[in-house]
Amino acid sequence: MPQLIAGNWKMHGLAAEAQALARGVAAGATGLACELLVCPPAIHVAAVAQILSGTPVAVGGQDCHQALQGAHTGDIAAAMLRDAGGSWVILGHSERRHNHGETDELVREKVLAATEAGLTPIVCVGETEDHRVGGQETEIVGWQIAGSLPKPFTGVVAYEPVWAIGTGKTATEQDVAMMHAFIREELVRQFGDAGQGIRILYGGSMRPANAAALLAVPNVGGGLIGGASLKAGDFLAIAKAASA
Ligand code: PEP
Repeated sequence: MPQLIAGNWKMHGLAAEAQALARGVAAGATGLACELLVCPPAIHVAAVAQILSGTPVAVGGQDCHQALQGAHTGDIAAAMLRDAGGSWVILGHSERRHNHGETDELVREKVLAATEAGLTPIVCVGETEDHRVGGQETEIVGWQIAGSLPKPFTGVVAYEPVWAIGTGKTATEQDVAMMHAFIREELVRQFGDAGQGIRILYGGSMRPANAAALLAVPNVGGGLIGGASLKAGDFLAIAKAASA
């Protein structure tokens, strides 16, 4: 299976910047052996999807509501993302878990809504620094997988240690190898043979200088990239490392 290189643009960029970034990514996207995805802020999804239509770059959202529609002021339904040209959605990102109190149960409901609307979910899991210092990283991530992924699950898991997100601190290749092997074991324990085929992305300060080493770790099926996805050249350099 090709690696998936996914950019999480978070809450960055006005319309002109988002569109310029999409054009920059599209300009270098042909001929790569990985899958490419960008997840702009929801308000830019339609325009970015239009720019990227006909290119190898897919578009996704950064969140969706768990209900299919209804009185939910300020929220976005999975079907709306799909209608705007999205085919993926990031769910349970640690910033949503921490800033919006999202629980595993809520993330699981969102995964069901996304799947029903035809979106492929990327479900984020990962321990905090306190969990890691306390030796609880596998316990926490095991619970997040059990609680956030419905059965059956047709999507991707992203392992994102919270202490490595946006901090410049990257997990070592040994940390990543250990956690991805653990996540693979958990997926197989919880989903049987289907767990072998679930892609596991690594996310947390991935950049051109460390991408090749991280992407070569066993059980790493791609990267979820925040900061470095805001520069087309850096994002494409990571995509090239994934295609090598
Ligand atoms: C992220 O937020 O998903 C992420 C991995 O961010 P960064 O690459 O900036 O650490």
